[in-house]
Amino acid sequence: MAASTDSFSTFLTQLVASISPGAKILSDQSSTEFKDSLQRWSDIGLQIPTAIVLAATGNDVVLTVKLAVELNIPFVPKSGGHSLWSTIGPEGFILDLSRFKNISLDKEKKTVTNPLGNGNTIGVVPQALGGGISALSGLCGYTSDNIVSARLVTSSGSLITVSSSSNPDLFWALRGTGQFFGIVAELTMQAHPLSVLGTPDGTVWTGSIVFPAQRVEEVLQALAPMIADESAPGTGLLLIAAPPPTFTTCIIIIPVFFGTASVAEAYYQPLISLGPLMMDCKPVTLVRLNDSMEAFCFKGGMPKFEPSVWPKVIELFEELRRKCPDAGATGYAFEWNTYSPENKLSHSETAFSHRDVKVWAEFLSWYTSPESHAEVYRIEQEVLSLMRQDQDEEDEAAFQNWTRNEPLRRRYRGAERLEKLRRLKKE
Ligand SMILES: Cc1cc2nc3c(=O)[nH]c(=O)nc-3n(C[C@H](O)[C@H](O)[C@H](O)COP(=O)(O)OP(=O)(O)OC[C@H]3O[C@@H](n4cnc5c(N)ncnc54)[C@H](O)[C@@H]3O)c2cc1C
Repeated sequence: MAASTDSFSTFLTQLVASISPGAKILSDQSSTEFKDSLQRWSDIGLQIPTAIVLAATGNDVVLTVKLAVELNIPFVPKSGGHSLWSTIGPEGFILDLSRFKNISLDKEKKTVTNPLGNGNTIGVVPQALGGGISALSGLCGYTSDNIVSARLVTSSGSLITVSSSSNPDLFWALRGTGQFFGIVAELTMQAHPLSVLGTPDGTVWTGSIVFPAQRVEEVLQALAPMIADESAPGTGLLLIAAPPPTFTTCIIIIPVFFGTASVAEAYYQPLISLGPLMMDCKPVTLVRLNDSMEAFCFKGGMPKFEPSVWPKVIELFEELRRKCPDAGATGYAFEWNTYSPENKLSHSETAFSHRDVKVWAEFLSWYTSPESHAEVYRIEQEVLSLMRQDQDEEDEAAFQNWTRNEPLRRRYRGAERLEKLRRLKKE
């Protein structure tokens, strides 16, 4: 429900008087600061709120939520701004949490509070709350598996602790569907030693191995057994893109191998011996791992990898480039995770429902013209249905960190899980 102008100004006046000196309220829509704070990763569905509240402390969040609830002012929280849903129109305000960047490490308990996430600019908290898939998921579990506790501001503005011993049902829900159960003002996560990477210097082997699209069948034949190999210490991306300088369609393999360069090269020999156009894989430190992967769009997951559909995927990709010239920088990526971690939680232990997913389809759709939107979406859907053609309905997965358009049964799989989530949401 939209708030009246009067209650909005009462809200802003009272808030200014109570929040911390480090916090800020922006309401001049023409100011550079307001425009900068409004920026998101995508302009799809962008709305202009009446105000943006930049909270600086957990207490600012509590005060803001309490007052907004009392005066019936709608709002959305926003952290890194990478989703399509941290936006609201003139009826409400954005509660901006991007200033929450402090990280503290507890060496004894081996935990970090408000730790860094996977993508280099993605909000840590929402990524973890939505499940959190990363190159390290196979080694250390999904990001949500590593949540130890949270300080949560509930819809009534109370600040509560959520952990396995305090509000355990909420803790279950937080780990996979947490964006729907309140505002997380602080998150404590399990830390892992660099030694899990299995290299003496804490590096991973990564880079690109590039082939022309015409070689799709032989490349996929060499790659398929590696993707199917449950014991391979690694993960990777298979990307279809048309990169500079030639802008012709290529297959780009981005491996992430947990081991030394010589072991990795031996493992990837079936691909390397095909004679790629270009290969620049080398050991890199973990903090540099995401540098070449700044843009992603997960859509659907598959429990198995089917190499035979790839020539058709390439055809669809080329159709997209023909029909939408502004989408030339697009890439279609497929991320696999081969390593089965010993610390994997059971399917029912958290609200995250995609532990069986082997390969995630990700569409890195870059386009500038709003007219291209329908065509981009249609082709993405066509690629997905190609991938899903032999799947049973219950195997169809959609990653909740990426989509709120796909049916709930694909995002939170299993009737029991959905039922429990609905019950918790009502409480
Ligand atoms: C380039 C790119 C790369 C990505 N890579 C990955 C990846 O590798 N793995 C992965 O799992 N996902 C990935 N994602 C998806 C990403 O994790 C989700 O979109 C995530 O929700 C984005 O968080 P954000 O803070 O940047 O976005 P925001 O839009 O700020 O927030 C996302 C949602 O969380 C809510 N929210 C924000 N802060 C809080 C809070 N403190 N408490 C409760 N709710 C809150 C917002 O209202 C919104 O609904 C990627 C997305 C992009 C665009």
